[in-house]
Amino acid sequence: MTASSMLAALADVGRDPARGGYSRPVFAPAELELREWFVAEARRLGLDVETDRNGLIWAWWDAPGRPRTNAVATGSHLDSVPGGGAFDGPLGVVSALAAVEQLQAIGHTSDRPIVVVVFPEEEGSRYGVPCLGSGLLTGTISADRALSLKDEYGDTLAELLDRNGIDPARVGPDPDAVRRIGAFVELHVEQGRGLVDLAEPVAVGRSIIGHGRWKLRFEGHGNHAGTTLMSDRNDPMIPAAQTVLAAETAARAVPGARATVGKLVPVPGGSNVIASTVDVWLDVRHPDESTLAPLVAEISAQADRLAIAAGCRTQVSCESYSPAVHFDPDLIRRCREILPTAALLDTGAGHDAGVLAPYTPSAMLFVRNPSGVSHSPEEYAEDDDVDAGAHALTEVLAKLSATA
Ligand SMILES: [Zn+2]
Repeated sequence: MTASSMLAALADVGRDPARGGYSRPVFAPAELELREWFVAEARRLGLDVETDRNGLIWAWWDAPGRPRTNAVATGSHLDSVPGGGAFDGPLGVVSALAAVEQLQAIGHTSDRPIVVVVFPEEEGSRYGVPCLGSGLLTGTISADRALSLKDEYGDTLAELLDRNGIDPARVGPDPDAVRRIGAFVELHVEQGRGLVDLAEPVAVGRSIIGHGRWKLRFEGHGNHAGTTLMSDRNDPMIPAAQTVLAAETAARAVPGARATVGKLVPVPGGSNVIASTVDVWLDVRHPDESTLAPLVAEISAQADRLAIAAGCRTQVSCESYSPAVHFDPDLIRRCREILPTAALLDTGAGHDAGVLAPYTPSAMLFVRNPSGVSHSPEEYAEDDDVDAGAHALTEVLAKLSATA
């Protein structure tokens, strides 16, 4: 099957009529259905499928009895943000399967195993920490911290994994699994405008800019919206709203910076209630970490000042931080030799390839997205570009696996 026809087969899984697009939180029914679909497709291709102790799925194409070392790995994720697009994640997974199918069809042989990997909770939309699966695999996040994370229903990751047949006691770094990978190439839909104006559908990734998420909690005094005079209020919504604006102003003053508040939760959240607390999630990114840290510090200091002025208090906690990642120069060079017309792109989005990069040579391929929009139902790729991306990945896997 082609990558575009596989994507078409998944078009009805996890549609979100309220938000538009798709909502596929990790281990919710839609994502579980995609995981089952992946296992069935991998078995159709004769791959040996295993789910590891952190919930990653590995589908191996290799000769029986050969050691699983120096593998050429590819893959991506199947979870989505709330109301996300059809391509972010699944495109890399279907392209990997289509590439293996194509290599099988042309009788490709290699001493080097090829393995397709599916990473759980890449978006962090359920537990707040992106790239949780690759983070657990590599030890970038500790098992204790991960297992105690709670989703919006109060379910811990430990409880969720347990319900899905993964023993929480065995969750944690898996250096033996990482060591099996000799190179990792993740294909992904482009999430910005980098390829829109170029004549080529595919780019090779060069770097991921530094990024992090911070939770700012504003604490005030919950009260009645009608009986509490304006002069008597300690309303945390006021400094929270002012901080949203302050973050925007601060980021606009720093070239290359991006600051976003995409989520704000007032408690208790009644339309006739002054909130007692407001939680604000701040996402900040910049190519240069020495610029990113002072920018976050400035926004946090502003939040403090604004809270004090409103008679409120703040607590700031870092939920995740990923320094800038520069993909493996030698692997980038190989990919560009194989795909000589492909552009070279930096990306502002985090990826599992970025988490793996310090541990094994990693690189990425990007596929043109004519909307330039992602994490939205508008995210898009033409069928021809989808199949061109899968073809590029096929070439890369063929050449990389041909030499040890
Ligand atoms: Zn993604």
